[in-house]
Amino acid sequence: MQVALDDYVWAAGVATDLVNTAPEVWHGEDKLPDLDSLVAFAELHSILVDTRPSDLRAVHRLRVTVRDLIDHPNRAGLVTGATALTSAIGVLSLDASSDHARWTASLRPGATVSDSFSLVCGVGILGAVRALGAERFRACGAPVCRGAFIDTTRPGRRRYCMPGLCGNRVNVANHRARRATTHTPRGHQA
Ligand SMILES: [Zn+2]
Repeated sequence: MQVALDDYVWAAGVATDLVNTAPEVWHGEDKLPDLDSLVAFAELHSILVDTRPSDLRAVHRLRVTVRDLIDHPNRAGLVTGATALTSAIGVLSLDASSDHARWTASLRPGATVSDSFSLVCGVGILGAVRALGAERFRACGAPVCRGAFIDTTRPGRRRYCMPGLCGNRVNVANHRARRATTHTPRGHQA
């Protein structure tokens, strides 16, 4: 498997998706509870490496490591921590199959699916730090959500870990709050 080093947006997205499978984000329910769910998650992100039973715990550990990095976004710490994640790198090369040759990192032989996720997360974090800066590592802005994300949008104003879910929840809550304010009978204010 190869990771394009200039495709940090994809890689950072995988890192974001991984941390947001954690039980702390889902009121105790782990979204990667077993090997089948890990295989599905890997396939969803085009990470096609054989999965072994020991990978589940390794990916859970990686998830904690990546979350800890996002939660403590200082530049030096992010670089050191993400560099450690790239230890499964085998060969650095150019993919020259198209007009625009791209830097690619391949996994060393025998690398596991957790090694793959580790390399992808490392590339995603390093790329985002380099191109966008440490302030792009954030906690979800929804009051009830414990998720986190790496903001790779161009303007850098992303607020939610899962925009479709957390953003909608906040919109619904704001709408209800506005309605409640509008419908409060007057005359009760001191
Ligand atoms: Zn969220």
